[in-house]
Amino acid sequence: MLDYHLHLWEHRPGPVEATLEQVAAYCERATEAGVQEVALTEHLSRFRQADRVLKGWWEDDPSPALADAMRRAWDDEVGADLDEYVEVALAAKAEGLPVVLGMEVDHYAGRMDVVGELLAGYPFDVLLGSVHWIGSWGLDNGFDPVMVAEWDHRSIESVWDAYTEALEELAASGACDVLAHPDLCKIMGHRPAVPDEWHDRMAEAAARCGLAAEVSSAGLRKPVGEAYPAPALLARFAAAGVPFTTASDAHRLDQVAECRDELRDLLATVGCTTLQAYRGRTPRTVALG
Ligand SMILES: [Zn+2]
Ligand SMILES: [Zn+2]
Repeated sequence: MLDYHLHLWEHRPGPVEATLEQVAAYCERATEAGVQEVALTEHLSRFRQADRVLKGWWEDDPSPALADAMRRAWDDEVGADLDEYVEVALAAKAEGLPVVLGMEVDHYAGRMDVVGELLAGYPFDVLLGSVHWIGSWGLDNGFDPVMVAEWDHRSIESVWDAYTEALEELAASGACDVLAHPDLCKIMGHRPAVPDEWHDRMAEAAARCGLAAEVSSAGLRKPVGEAYPAPALLARFAAAGVPFTTASDAHRLDQVAECRDELRDLLATVGCTTLQAYRGRTPRTVALG
């Protein structure tokens, strides 16, 4: 079992410092839970180095209210130092802790070349690709009333369509190795009656671009109350030969390795007995355990 999606900081303003002690505590909890390796995958958007080259991307959105909400969310959370984060992860690896250096790469429409240039300067083991935004609308933002209310102004089908289009662009960008929480568009519990066409496109994007798909317990903590991906999408990934990682998407210590048994049971439904781990963005197959 892997926990290949871990954050050091919660989604709120506050200190954003990486320490070896925190990484060691994450590793200890994971090991106790039977997880053989973890990946640190903090959001790219939290780092000052990303702020320098991407700040203001939300101004492309035709809605001033949404753009302003995204600016607020961004400014609240940015501030970490990417060099320090990388140094701490490398130090943890050097000490023999079962951790690899990763990043959760948010999707920046039309700006993935800038993202790729920034990331190329660092020795990442694994990069997760995540669509959290459609334009400047944070579809998974359950805090800001402007973001939450936007669900009332769009049809579920149009949201799933725009989400899937962004996921296809992100997959093709080469900026990531794993599709994180692949059907995040269901987060608030809004699902089309027949989601097959979107599931097909998500699975095709992963297969076409040689990406793995993340099986994540995070959805169990959200309004949808279901792991990512949905069973029907999981089956499509498996049928397309897409490998899997497992993940908690923890944002604090007590969530590390959360729900690993549920994820193992889910993978058993598609006969999956191996996972994909990474070193230097090169995949290797490991036993599910
Ligand atoms: Zn995410
Ligand atoms: Zn995450």
